[in-house]
Amino acid sequence: MDIKVVKFGGTSMADAESIKKVCNIIKSDKQRRFVVVSAPGKRSGDDIKVTDLLYSCAHELQISGDISEYFQKIKSRFKKIVSDLKLNFDIDTVLNEVEKGIYVNRTMEYAASRGEYLSARILSEYLGYNFIDAKDIVFFNEKGQLDEEKTNAKTAAVLCNLDNAVVPGFYGADITGTVKTFSRGGSDVTGAIIAKAVNASVYENWTDVNGFMCTDPRIVKNPKRIEKLSYKELRELSYMGANVLHPESIFPLKSAGIPINIRNTFEPENSGTMILPEINEKDNGSLITGIAGKKNFALISIEKSMMNSELGFARKVLTILEEYEISFEHMPSGIDTLCVIVAESELMGKSDAVIQKITHTVNPDHIELTNGIALIATVGHGMAFKPGTAAKLFKALSDADINVKMIDQGSSELNIIVAVADVDYEKAIEAIYNQFFMQK
Ligand code: ASP
Repeated sequence: MDIKVVKFGGTSMADAESIKKVCNIIKSDKQRRFVVVSAPGKRSGDDIKVTDLLYSCAHELQISGDISEYFQKIKSRFKKIVSDLKLNFDIDTVLNEVEKGIYVNRTMEYAASRGEYLSARILSEYLGYNFIDAKDIVFFNEKGQLDEEKTNAKTAAVLCNLDNAVVPGFYGADITGTVKTFSRGGSDVTGAIIAKAVNASVYENWTDVNGFMCTDPRIVKNPKRIEKLSYKELRELSYMGANVLHPESIFPLKSAGIPINIRNTFEPENSGTMILPEINEKDNGSLITGIAGKKNFALISIEKSMMNSELGFARKVLTILEEYEISFEHMPSGIDTLCVIVAESELMGKSDAVIQKITHTVNPDHIELTNGIALIATVGHGMAFKPGTAAKLFKALSDADINVKMIDQGSSELNIIVAVADVDYEKAIEAIYNQFFMQK
């Protein structure tokens, strides 16, 4: 029988009502044998995530040595969940052990990991599933990166003997056995690791939205849902700001080609978004899959006559950026011009020195730094080999009276990136969306 790995996010684990929904989803399909959970998230707009309370505990421990104020809040959240679930489980003892553990271990990462640990302990009791601690199956190497090989071997060995298990997301153990966490939102990555290890037929990532939308719903009201997208399209869209799934989640799954299905715990009948290793462009029907973007970039434009024949020009510019530890996003060039786009935050406090050093090293005719640039990626395999996609995009922008400062299209024809002024960002996204998704 196929195996499905299911991961439930913070909103799905926020209170007893949501956990009952989680349980119904799991029990409605026998293939849903391995479950990964986040810590309880927000129950309402002004609530605080358990993980944030735990970071506050660790912070307080360093400052005053006393975590009781914050830990009390954590205790009452978990106690309420257990009592609302009418669960016969001695949560007090577990909470006391966790509190002691925070005092003994003293690290931010240990404290932060306890939300997932407690969430998984409770759900495993409620479901009657085995509990497997992530620190025994997920490992980081001496560089602090996920040790994929060791993790995959151990996870597969442990889980293959079990009918079912609940595993806390977000953390594992470093080479000394100390708890270490992924970056924020990292339970998504744990789910992917487990899916790979048990060779799941699908990795279901249950959250509080109906999947990826064709663009940011804060800009366009009720945008269409993306039904299917490829790993590559996902990478482009999440890099550019679409943040339904942790961007590193695809790496463990890539080699195994396991699809990811984003689903909504609060609307389980909705089929969500399916993320597939490859998409046959004919399958998808639409020219464009989605539009995403980010603000606050800077554009360094360099002009020099005969630049095209000067060997090593771009290398010299990029070496300077490297010296200042600045990573760049794009580098479109012309015959006598070179533009480098970097995030404003990367340049912070370094811009004058960088411009001076470039000026001194490559002696340009003109160099200019423009701040307040937004990048917008229009992504879709469907545009490959189809004439007219760029024309449609630029017509939309020109009809909306938006000036395009830079254009970048890779030869894979997976996306077209345009740079516009930050102030035009929302208007540009809306114009592109309307052009590709609203017009027949
Ligand atoms: N609880 C962690 C966070 O808030 C990890 C996760 O939910 O994936 O970032």
